[in-house]
Amino acid sequence: MRREPFGRGLRGQRGRWSAVAFRFAASGGAWARRTAICFPDSPARALYSDWTTWSGRPREGAVNEWDRDVDVLVVGSGAAGLSAAITAVDAGLRTLVLESTDRWGGTTNLSGGGLWMPTNPLMEALGVPDSVDEALAYMRAAIGDAGPASSPERRRAFVETVPEVFRFLEGYGVRWTAAKDYPDYYPDLPGGKTGRGIEVEPFDTKVLGDWFKKSRSDESLPLIPLKTDDVWLVSRAWSTPSGFVRGARLVFRTLGGFLRGKRLYGLGSALISSLMAIVRRQGTEVLLSTPLTGLVVEEGAVTGVVASRPDGSTFRVRAAAGVVLAAGGFANNRQWREKYHGIPGYSSAADGDLGSVIALAEAIGAQLALMDDAWWGASVPSPDADGKAMFVLGERSFPFSLVVDSQGDRYTNESASYVDVGHAMLERNKTVPAIPSWLIVETRHRRRYLFNPLLQGGKRLRDAGILRKADTIEELARQLGMEPARLSATIDRFNTFAREGTDHDFGRGRTAYDRYYGDPRVRPNPNLGPLEKGPFTAVQIVPGDLGTKGGLLTDADARVLDTSDRPIPGLYAAGNTSASVMGRTYPGPGSTIAPAVVFGYRAARHAGSRDAAAGPNAPAN
Ligand SMILES: Cc1cc2nc3c(=O)[nH]c(=O)nc-3n(C[C@H](O)[C@H](O)[C@H](O)COP(=O)(O)OP(=O)(O)OC[C@H]3O[C@@H](n4cnc5c(N)ncnc54)[C@H](O)[C@@H]3O)c2cc1C
Repeated sequence: MRREPFGRGLRGQRGRWSAVAFRFAASGGAWARRTAICFPDSPARALYSDWTTWSGRPREGAVNEWDRDVDVLVVGSGAAGLSAAITAVDAGLRTLVLESTDRWGGTTNLSGGGLWMPTNPLMEALGVPDSVDEALAYMRAAIGDAGPASSPERRRAFVETVPEVFRFLEGYGVRWTAAKDYPDYYPDLPGGKTGRGIEVEPFDTKVLGDWFKKSRSDESLPLIPLKTDDVWLVSRAWSTPSGFVRGARLVFRTLGGFLRGKRLYGLGSALISSLMAIVRRQGTEVLLSTPLTGLVVEEGAVTGVVASRPDGSTFRVRAAAGVVLAAGGFANNRQWREKYHGIPGYSSAADGDLGSVIALAEAIGAQLALMDDAWWGASVPSPDADGKAMFVLGERSFPFSLVVDSQGDRYTNESASYVDVGHAMLERNKTVPAIPSWLIVETRHRRRYLFNPLLQGGKRLRDAGILRKADTIEELARQLGMEPARLSATIDRFNTFAREGTDHDFGRGRTAYDRYYGDPRVRPNPNLGPLEKGPFTAVQIVPGDLGTKGGLLTDADARVLDTSDRPIPGLYAAGNTSASVMGRTYPGPGSTIAPAVVFGYRAARHAGSRDAAAGPNAPAN
């Protein structure tokens, strides 16, 4: 597993913070200011020694010398960061991107690459007209009141900017396409629709030359030109005609690309590679293995950063128009996971998701929100006990399956959206041990549908006790440490619902979202099939996640707010570094990447206007 290349002296000390104020004695003396530099995990003494190493002269407080001078400094090379970088350069701003790990792309690269873009221009062609009012009504119904991260102003800013961002990136060559079958996750709520999800057409990654090798694509989903709607149809390619046709189309697309000498990749690889191709064309430098380690604050405004080079030395970059923090969340920071979530975390997010940047901003007075939440989802824990997990989607929603807690009782609609299933698991665990829960499937499920984690090594899962198998429910219950009569009663009740077609306990299969991951051949309810044919397989599931959704509180222009709700001049945040505009839920497919791209765009646009107002040579404040 790759490790985060944090600068020397910072590793292993997470959780300790220091903010040191220096009296700045400028050589010219004319712009002496109060300056604070904040480093994570570093006691003041270490900070001072890092500082003197950087300056080459042990002169306390001298901060008027910069190693580099740009207009916009972007931290992070995922969707939010690259969107901000592209927009900043478009506005004529000199831009630099820092990436802490030795690979660009972040969790975005590993993702499905979907964006939930209400009112996007492709909807008209689909015959699904949308409007700002409908989208906002839907967000109101789905999200409810989730506090200032999802304020009416931020929601409106998000929705109203969608068409602009769509056209802007399209103008730079991004080829959007609709994930036309993927519904909103609460399609029966007011304003709910199918057609708001979009993605990027499979992208020829050869365009990036050798730079592509520095991406995270080889850690991501299958490296083929897969598209969003393929994922569920292909997972039942051999059980339904529509699945078969979709599978055949995918084969032709793959071969077609191959014959034309292209290396077409879909999903998150397509999205991040197409954004990176623009960044490269614009000539923006992206420094890998170069984490942000400090924010420079002068008279209350962020005016630049300190970053660490691969050799551990530090350098300072002035950012006249602003610093955009787009460094993901804290999914892999176990200490914070325990503190905010009460669990160590079982994340599918990329390694760099450590929260260091959130902590840096907090140390200069930024306000945090939604820290106790994440983009949850049922996941199969890794047999390596490394805190990683394999996200399961269709597996728990297809018929002939159910989820039970440690006592053998169902407690949720297994086909509900991943965030809801994650919340349900955490909630259940407060009264009955439900971490792990067990996903139990019968023979028809195993024969007809893909079960991703099993493809990645059923034997290893069995050896680690994560997977159990038995010919009868009673025997399975004994293996799982459950009362056989109780598990049998749960399954008998479920089977009655399956035959009738109505889940009277949790409403599974009621909405178009549930049915998206159903099997239309199974009637009367495509998500319900009785568990009656052994052998039965049980797989542990835990509340995994796609990343965290709590972070810096920002306004409609992605400006970071302090604890008095005032913007911190010069500081912006987008993506999982910021508290999500989607609140505690997941309204539709692509609910994390869409706001990441939109608020990255808005941040850079705002920084541009700030720069213009200040004049080309004015120090930022
Ligand atoms: C399997 C999977 C599928 C998913 N599918 C979808 C989907 O289809 N649609 C959707 O909306 N969401 C999806 N998600 C979630 C989504 O990928 C993330 O929420 C989103 O990509 C986060 O984007 P970001 O720009 O905030 O962060 P990232 O893409 O993670 O980028 C942040 C970057 O910042 C870097 N960084 C961290 N600290 C520092 C530092 N100190 N200095 C410099 N750089 C730093 C990180 O290394 C990283 O490269 C999925 C996630 C997974 C794991």
